[in-house]
Amino acid sequence: MQKGNIGVTTENIFPVIKKFLYSDHEIFLRELVSNAVDATQKLKTLASMGDFKGELGDLTIHVSVGKDTITVSDRGLGLTAEEIDKYINQIAFSGANDFLEKYKNDANAIIGHFGLGFYSAFMVAKKVEIVTKSYKEDAKAVKWTCDGSPEFTLEDAERADRGTDIILYIDDDCREFLEESRISALLNKYCRFLPIPVAFGKKKEWKDGKQVETDEDNIINDTTPLWTKKPSELKDEDYTKFYRDLYPMSDEPLFWIHLNVDYPFHLTGILYFPKVKSNIELTKNKIQLYCNQVYVTDSVEGIVPDFLTLLHGVLDSPDIPLNVSRSYLQSDSNVKKISTYITKKVSDRLQGIFKNDRKQFEEKWNDLKIFIHYGMLTQEDFYERAKDFALLEDTDGKYYTYDEYKTLIKDAQTDKENVLVYLYANNKDEQYSYIEAAKAKGYNVLLMDGQLDIAVISMLEQKLEKCRFTRVDSDVVDKLIVKEEQKGETLDAGKQEVLSVMFKSQLPKIDKAEFHITTEAMGENAFPVMITQSEYMRRMKDMANIQSGMSFYGEMPDMFNLILNSDHQLVKEILENENQTCHASVEPIQKEMDETDARRQELRKKEEGKKADEIPTAEKDELSELDKKWEELKQQKDKVLTDYAGENKVVRQLIDLALLQNGMLKGEALNKFLKRSIELIG
Ligand code: ADP
Repeated sequence: MQKGNIGVTTENIFPVIKKFLYSDHEIFLRELVSNAVDATQKLKTLASMGDFKGELGDLTIHVSVGKDTITVSDRGLGLTAEEIDKYINQIAFSGANDFLEKYKNDANAIIGHFGLGFYSAFMVAKKVEIVTKSYKEDAKAVKWTCDGSPEFTLEDAERADRGTDIILYIDDDCREFLEESRISALLNKYCRFLPIPVAFGKKKEWKDGKQVETDEDNIINDTTPLWTKKPSELKDEDYTKFYRDLYPMSDEPLFWIHLNVDYPFHLTGILYFPKVKSNIELTKNKIQLYCNQVYVTDSVEGIVPDFLTLLHGVLDSPDIPLNVSRSYLQSDSNVKKISTYITKKVSDRLQGIFKNDRKQFEEKWNDLKIFIHYGMLTQEDFYERAKDFALLEDTDGKYYTYDEYKTLIKDAQTDKENVLVYLYANNKDEQYSYIEAAKAKGYNVLLMDGQLDIAVISMLEQKLEKCRFTRVDSDVVDKLIVKEEQKGETLDAGKQEVLSVMFKSQLPKIDKAEFHITTEAMGENAFPVMITQSEYMRRMKDMANIQSGMSFYGEMPDMFNLILNSDHQLVKEILENENQTCHASVEPIQKEMDETDARRQELRKKEEGKKADEIPTAEKDELSELDKKWEELKQQKDKVLTDYAGENKVVRQLIDLALLQNGMLKGEALNKFLKRSIELIG
């Protein structure tokens, strides 16, 4: 028997491994099983190159759980005593390097590196034994034992067949790993797609209402997962079946992309565009990352562009450095290349569907747009690719590319500053009458109701030349796109004022909303009263809702315009009736106001150009008296108008109708409106 020290610094390295090296102790199983796969694949490689002439036989790797032990057994190339010394004892020396050197050109079959590999066994074991026999002729079986201190023993052993058993004597605080269900779950997580069959126990079958073991090995892995196959040999059903296996709870995917590159890096995989029922379901970390079919992680941030972390599927590459920090990953040149490659593949695929099957692309657009928009917003190179196939949908459900849409609206929707005005609605039902009015004028209205559309609008305003987005209800239809100087309001100022006072007095109080009342000659067929909200104000509020730090705008009340259509018969009648009923009381007040104002103007003219101390006190006093008097008269007049308006059901009905049209009539005000409507009918 040979005794010795493991060739690291004499310090005890195992506590370090145990505590700091791996945050997840469970990965010991991945390390050991992938070492077994590695040894088996090496033997297969030797056989294929004629360097191993024996029978390969059944190469299944067996994982078994005993009372205190976990054993991983393989029929790979095994180890000689010298090799144990070289590869196990001299920890810093990685055997794979030697092998790689020798079989450089067939390195594909060699599993990647996972840090300290074998030694991770000590994360869960108090003692580890290796019983192994090399494939080499005349090799003797040996047993290596180590109890977690740097000392080991190496002795002769009995083993009929070539291959290796790794036997872990599980630590008392790790006994959870002795549960069959735990090991089964770990194998499913890490070993599900390993390229060599892995057996755990025997297949079970139902017999007489009980589960009984059969003689057949329970193979836990699929050795040739879909991504390792040639795309040309696969059917759609294969892809959808694989997707269902990976994500049993998800809907059918929209489509998929099979990745397969050999140069300048190795990457295979399948990415799926998931169908998401709601945005809440959008989750990252659904893509699984593999290294030569060994599961590594489901966190691919930093490896694929951010917007693609929303996709599902698998990526497999031996060229992604593992066990390094995420920030390091992002600066790694291979990772950068991989990320760029994936972006290009995804956009090529989208472009392909768009070109070859536009109908299908349009049908899927609503499910796709969240991914495409997110990509365009966050990644310049993706914007450049996607701008040719990204779609705009109008309120009639028709789809256009950016270029097509520009051509469509160019003639009708260019304003006098030569700016192309894109009209949009974000709710077809709520903005129905505004949409209809715009369409009647020959405009097209886009539907922008996606979660990212506020941001998409800003992006397009910057990217597309000379254009502006305006929501259909941001102004009366004639002013949405100003094409020439408009004739403006013809109603005289006095009458405008009368209407404004009357309507203002009857507006119900609405929380966090303020109204500015104006009149406008909108034509006799337009609605008598309209409510609009300026694009600028609304956007500020929208932005405030999604960005903190803009709460100033969020706190502000919503400012609306209540616009009275002075061309409308009902508005005209209100003015006439007011005149008939109120003229007698308003006229004397108005006369006095006019006289007061005339005298006021006179005094002001006199004072013009004089300094304050040059004006006699008497004059100053008179002026302030006049101001006061005018205010009082104005209040008297307004009271007459307000009282009258309070009696006038048409005024209140028109206001309520406008509020109703905008979904702003609620609670008590709505109840009053209903009662008043019934009275008016009766
Ligand atoms: P790595 O696999 O990264 O080289 P490990 O610590 O996991 O590092 O393993 C060290 C070496 O021990 C391997 O390179 C290999 O030569 C040898 N080895 C480990 N497990 C086995 C096994 N099951 N069969 C044969 N050799 C093995």
